Amino acid sequence: MSEETEHVSCLIIGSGPAGYTAAIYAARADLKPVLYTGIVPGGQLTQTTDVENFPGYPEGVMGPEMMEDFRKQAERFGTDIRFGYVTSVDFSSLPHKVVIDEHKTVTADTVIIATGASAKWLGLESEQKYNGFGVSACAVCDGFFFKGQDVAIVGAGDTAAEEATYLAKLCNKVHMLVRRDEFRASKAMQNRVLHTPNIEIHYNTETREIVGDGQNVTGVKVANNQTQAETVIPVTGFFVAIGHKPNTDIFKGWLDMDETGYLITKPDSTQTNIEGVFACGDAQDKLWRQAITAAGTGCMAALEAERYLAAKEDVLAESRIVEVNK
Ligand code: NDP
Repeated sequence: MSEETEHVSCLIIGSGPAGYTAAIYAARADLKPVLYTGIVPGGQLTQTTDVENFPGYPEGVMGPEMMEDFRKQAERFGTDIRFGYVTSVDFSSLPHKVVIDEHKTVTADTVIIATGASAKWLGLESEQKYNGFGVSACAVCDGFFFKGQDVAIVGAGDTAAEEATYLAKLCNKVHMLVRRDEFRASKAMQNRVLHTPNIEIHYNTETREIVGDGQNVTGVKVANNQTQAETVIPVTGFFVAIGHKPNTDIFKGWLDMDETGYLITKPDSTQTNIEGVFACGDAQDKLWRQAITAAGTGCMAALEAERYLAAKEDVLAESRIVEVNK
């Protein structure tokens, strides 16, 4: 093996709620996990403000602070947490090979993938400017802050439909911006939107700019793509619900995934199609995408890794000897 190669029993990729929870369980089970954080240590929650729906924080907590708590708890039991980005993997034989930052190879008996997903954004400069100050990609996380106010949501899929009805319960009015003259969402979800009186649907409507006073959002400039007529809708919140992209590109060709890239795991399990490789959190969950559900599957992944290591001890020991002698 080269100097830049090391072997670990349990390698965790990703540092959101799924990755850190897997690390807490794996470390307490004495698997001596090594966790690579990825480019955004702490994951998506480090980009939100208050988190009020994670049990155990009765007063709520700031997203970055909560992820710092997760990290400390994982470290307390001996997780080796490292800043680094996985650039490629080779799951063709045991032990699994994972390349970090293009130069270091880690071989691992078990790999827990917790690389998460990223919300898709419109790509407007003003959207970035007001992110966290009225602009959000998560209605369930941030809708509460706009109680009784007027908000807008862009998107026309199931997520947008679900989030619009969620927001409608809290907000005075929800403007739904749909770029075509029809929804993509299922009929059932569309019906819920269409029968919610305080949702106003703006078809053929594209977002041009998020308008603000320099600190907070005050409106959204939209254009009708048939007439090109521009208007500013006064809102204090702007929600983007145009889909998520799981961070799974590096696993293409190795792991089964759906057409969007969500990793497919066996029913009631985090086991992927490759033995010893487990997937948890938003990288394999397109439906719930909550911190608490990610933490839950992170726990499952660590427990499954532990069981796998115990059951396969002899095979894995043999594979390590073969690898060293290569
Ligand atoms: P989708 O990819 O299904 O929908 C994305 C929506 O965003 C589309 O309506 C699309 O418009 C719109 N969009 C994309 N880019 C832009 C843009 N630049 N400007 C304006 N609009 C844009 O993503 P979802 O997150 O809604 O759903 C992902 C998957 O998860 C789906 O399979 C969905 O069924 C599933 N899901 C299921 C739920 C449930 O069953 N309860 C809940 C949530 C999600 P256009 O239609 O014009 O392309």
